[in-house]
Amino acid sequence: MNVFDLMTPHGYEQVAFCHDQSTGLKAIICIHNTQLGPGLGGTRFYPYPDEAAALTDVIRLARAMSYKNAGAGLNAGGAKAVIIGEPTRLRSEPFLRAYGRFVHSLNGRYQTTTDVGTITADLDVIREETPYVTGCSPAFGGGGDTSVLTGLTVYLGMKAAAKHAFGSDSLSGRRIAVMGAGKVGYYLMKNLVAEGPELLVTDISGGMVDRAVKEFGAKRYEGDIIEADCDILAPCALGAVINDDSIPRIKAKVICGGANNQLADEPVHAPALAARGILHAPDYIVNSGGVINAFDELDTGGYNAARAEARARRVFDTTDRILSSARAESITPLAAADRFAEERIEAISRVRRTFRGG
Ligand code: NAD
Repeated sequence: MNVFDLMTPHGYEQVAFCHDQSTGLKAIICIHNTQLGPGLGGTRFYPYPDEAAALTDVIRLARAMSYKNAGAGLNAGGAKAVIIGEPTRLRSEPFLRAYGRFVHSLNGRYQTTTDVGTITADLDVIREETPYVTGCSPAFGGGGDTSVLTGLTVYLGMKAAAKHAFGSDSLSGRRIAVMGAGKVGYYLMKNLVAEGPELLVTDISGGMVDRAVKEFGAKRYEGDIIEADCDILAPCALGAVINDDSIPRIKAKVICGGANNQLADEPVHAPALAARGILHAPDYIVNSGGVINAFDELDTGGYNAARAEARARRVFDTTDRILSSARAESITPLAAADRFAEERIEAISRVRRTFRGG
């Protein structure tokens, strides 16, 4: 596989292959774009079948972070890292510290945080070797569980989407189907419940559903919730749930949830939803609360919960603006979101051409 062939089409800056003989660490760090600031994105720890799969994944994920960070109004570029292997087998202090040394060697061009397979406790070890980590535990100045603000931004994005689809941002009386009642689904419902919607919920874990039934008065949904008779579908579990098979069965008028990469094939499925009159709030805009929380630790003076929440609350206006331009120009919400992010990267980069001294 020719790495530069993967990097050139979307202007990737750097791919670093990291190997530590003593611990067996094999990691790839990919920095897509640093025009807005340091490349910020999590470390995925996953047993990829081969190197090519790991490289393809990190390349795709790093670029997605450029869009998510730009769309959230953060002074952060896009980057991601993958560690190849089974976390439960490989995780150890030396292994994570070896990784931390490679993160440090990039001198702040890459700032890491958690992703699939990595947990806050891992970051607390990685930070022994580098300060370029966000999302550590509160004992180390970290901002704690990112899903609290992710639940908030999905809720606010949902209100903006309701305004466009139903003419009112009130969710009172709306029937909302939540797929996945884990961390994000939980905090989404916690925000929703005060407005008095009708909540339907599924999860592959019965305990998660029980909690939602007990705490929020949600109804357990039997069957495939993708085809639930509802106003709003909120995918809060897996990616790629919006696909050729599911799109014809969706009855909701709005899709807005916390899961990353909900569309299996964006160029195909964003227009397919629009053709069915279903409004899809772009996932990387509405689930940006997590990265907003993590980014706040990088700000001068350290993490400030009130400032992080204030930043997260802007997601209503951002989603509203993106959906307005999508409608005005007859483009998909996803195309409008991508353009919004690209325009911010370009505009801030132009400002930075001036040498400011100091
Ligand atoms: P989580 O593991 O806490 O919750 C996911 C839940 O989905 C689990 O309870 C799981 O049992 C359930 N689930 C899995 N497969 C399912 C299925 N087929 N049907 C119904 N339920 C199913 O994870 P989370 O942190 O809540 O993340 C959920 C999604 O949100 C992921 O796609 C994640 O990438 C994305 N996300 C999370 C954050 C964050 O701050 N945690 C930020 C941005 C995006």
